[in-house]
Amino acid sequence: MSLISPFQEQSLQFDRQHIWHPYTSMNQPSPVFMVTDAEGVYLELADGRKVIDGMASWWSVIHGYKHPRLNQAAKQQLDRFSHVMFGGLTHQPAIELAKRLVDITPDGLDRVFFSDSGSVSVEVAIKMAIQYQQSLGRPEKHRLMSLRRGYHGDTFAAMSVCDPVTGMHQLFKGNLSEQIFLPAPQSPWQTTICQSDLTALEETFAKHHHEVAAFILEPIVQGAGGMRFYSADYLRHARRLCDQYDVLLIADEIATGFGRTGALFACQHAQITPDILCLGKALTGGYLTLAATLTQAHIAEVISSSGAGCFMHGPTFMANPLACAIACESLDLLLEQDWQAKIHAIETQLKHHLEPASQLPQVAEVRCLGAIGVIELHHPVNLHQVQPWFVDAGVWVRPFGKLVYIMPPYIIQPAELKLLCESILTVIQRLD
Ligand SMILES: *Cc1c(COP(=O)(O)O)cnc(C)c1O
Repeated sequence: MSLISPFQEQSLQFDRQHIWHPYTSMNQPSPVFMVTDAEGVYLELADGRKVIDGMASWWSVIHGYKHPRLNQAAKQQLDRFSHVMFGGLTHQPAIELAKRLVDITPDGLDRVFFSDSGSVSVEVAIKMAIQYQQSLGRPEKHRLMSLRRGYHGDTFAAMSVCDPVTGMHQLFKGNLSEQIFLPAPQSPWQTTICQSDLTALEETFAKHHHEVAAFILEPIVQGAGGMRFYSADYLRHARRLCDQYDVLLIADEIATGFGRTGALFACQHAQITPDILCLGKALTGGYLTLAATLTQAHIAEVISSSGAGCFMHGPTFMANPLACAIACESLDLLLEQDWQAKIHAIETQLKHHLEPASQLPQVAEVRCLGAIGVIELHHPVNLHQVQPWFVDAGVWVRPFGKLVYIMPPYIIQPAELKLLCESILTVIQRLD
């Protein structure tokens, strides 16, 4: 720490006094580390240390930092125009990106709405579902079904479908729509659905379908709400019941999209097509904020023939050309390599290096899927205490609650991944 310059120290002081960080107090700001450079899987900190980024900046930086091809795509687009309004105008980056998304997502998802963040893409999905039901003369179908332990973003409609306990429902009671929650899926990954999950699904649909516009879930991996993995069979039953009861299925693949779980999209593990699909996070390889909500032609038609005559949403920075151009390049980069083999190799290595942690007294469970490794502890960690330990060990890992988890950039080399995993085990062993 002693290597931080006086100027950087002043900047950090300003940061503490004036700048909010995610989920932090301005009364007792937790310490933050200043990043001065980033390349490949490494973040360089103000004191000169380089740490391996185990978080891929929250799932997004799949190709690593300062990727020559992504930089080049950004520069080329910058020299043309970095933004134009999307009302009445269009551009090649948006068209090229939409082509790619239609092409690689499950068949039938071929109407694309671009927005600026994951939470907004969820708002858009929810509005689509409600406008769809209204347009069909079913205004009473305006509520959402969702899963406990789910996470869908921080805006109001998105918050209303997040886990009611961890999702701040009490805090914002009165401002949040009350939605219908199912238990978090219990059927483990690679098993068929268990009886209790099936019963919960069937009973909830039977009881509430007349008031439900859509069922929203994170397929296969529940992310920020608990880092839990569940059965593909659960999704097949959800799909079947949605069809049976005229409820739209919204798949929130903001975290799982673009290969993270070992399939390009997690829905593909179950071979289902959702009615609406939300994408974000890794869409631009972590360069810029961009999200997309895809839906099927017949749903778009119904929405467009509603009383309003159109879909009622249109962000200022919709389909930002700079972000779209980078997203195209990021998708090309991903798809022209054997990404499946790469994710599989990461999964194998994660299992190999993290499994031993299950023997530690601090650890409740270790689970790995695709390029995601999770260590669930018995007790919540004190972030204040452990964050510097991870940095000292040469890695950037940011646990929350009882969960120490990593989802590194796909470009991580075996030696780097080994170091990342070993550092995590070392830190966990220091916990009481
Ligand atoms: C991160 C995330 C969101 C919210 O995306 P933001 O870009 O942070 O608004 C929504 N759903 C899931 C599953 C996410 O992981």
